[in-house]
Amino acid sequence: MNKPDVIIDRVQYPDTITIVGGGAIHNMSLISNRVYEMGEIVFSNTIQTFPLEQQIILCYDDNYIPLDNDEHFTIIGNVKIYYGFDSFCNHSCDPNCHHIPTSDNSYQMIASRKIHIGEELTCDYAVFDTECKTHFECKCGSAICRGII
Ligand SMILES: [Zn+2]
Repeated sequence: MNKPDVIIDRVQYPDTITIVGGGAIHNMSLISNRVYEMGEIVFSNTIQTFPLEQQIILCYDDNYIPLDNDEHFTIIGNVKIYYGFDSFCNHSCDPNCHHIPTSDNSYQMIASRKIHIGEELTCDYAVFDTECKTHFECKCGSAICRGII
């Protein structure tokens, strides 16, 4: 069976966001560089779908991050949904952002409440990760944390 070539995706991301983390570890996150009021569009993004076995290396600035199926995609059957730079948006049970679809392959990230400079952008994975096979222990620290997601 032919293995698909590795895709190196050099992502563009808005200058209102800083990606922090780096290296080959998964503690990546998106940090806001400005204040957002509740209801404001934080960014717009498009998704792509790939076969489950497709390897994707996300490249931003000078960092190359191999993306792990368990952590960075939504898996539906034999395909995975790839979110580009938004792959690094972490889960919170009390998130400050939520997604609004704008077409079959695009969405807007909306501020669910006021977001401050330097605050991490988070969303609730349970909302869209309906077939997530690997449940994880949440450490978001929110007062309403559900524990196992
Ligand atoms: Zn939690």
